[in-house]
Amino acid sequence: MIGREQRKNNIEQNKISIQRKRVLSALASYIADLYNPQLPILPERIADIIGISYNYGNYEDYFDGMLEHSNGGFHIYLNVDKAPSNSPRSRFTFAHELGHYFINEHRQALELGLAPSHQSFTNFQSENIVELEADYFASCLLMPEDRFRADCLGKKFSPQLIKELMDRYQVSASAFLLRYTFIENVPVMVICSKGNKIAWKWESDDFEFKYIKSLSRSIPSISATAEFYAKGIEYIDPQNLYAEDWFNYISHEPNTFGIKEYCIYAKRYNMVLTVIWY
Ligand SMILES: [Zn+2]
Repeated sequence: MIGREQRKNNIEQNKISIQRKRVLSALASYIADLYNPQLPILPERIADIIGISYNYGNYEDYFDGMLEHSNGGFHIYLNVDKAPSNSPRSRFTFAHELGHYFINEHRQALELGLAPSHQSFTNFQSENIVELEADYFASCLLMPEDRFRADCLGKKFSPQLIKELMDRYQVSASAFLLRYTFIENVPVMVICSKGNKIAWKWESDDFEFKYIKSLSRSIPSISATAEFYAKGIEYIDPQNLYAEDWFNYISHEPNTFGIKEYCIYAKRYNMVLTVIWY
């Protein structure tokens, strides 16, 4: 196992240099164009073509996915206890494992026996560089740069765009938003919360506000997200708020800087993915 993932409260994609991101994105695009010119990208299809075997099984909490090297061949295990086969999360995990195969340094570590197998967790919270690289590769493989850019061209960031492209690329909201903010440079913050507590957040480099108005990781009380936890209200459309409703230390006069808050609800899990932009 190459460094099991350590959990952290923040996404730190910034740990991968811009140069390295370009290399990984180009590699992923090349593979997507070569093996899967149509959308959506099918990791199973790519594995079939290059001769990597795989199976879906019940592995409880042990891992999301695992790439194993034995007898000169590679095998990918996918855990249906974490995500049903072909769900956005399972597809991402599959693409992540393919990353460990296609990224030379990762594959060589397995081939040289430095790591007999590689267990992965797909939750966007790793701080291990090998995991981050595989995650980044996975997002670039499922959303190849040129096609993704063309689909975003001239379209405003909106719930409709999120839904349309999640559907087209068969990816989760988190995966889509990470890719979108990197490609389009829209100032966006994404907050994942559960039971009114912030589980993790990340923001694009140019997002102006860094400090959420939060006590012990709670959601700010004047917000659409807080209304869901307090009263079960689910808004279909983005809500208009002011920066000071969500953030501390802002350099604007009160009631002058408008922000938009859009919630993607997972009622079953008492979770919300909150997207804030302006
Ligand atoms: Zn991994």
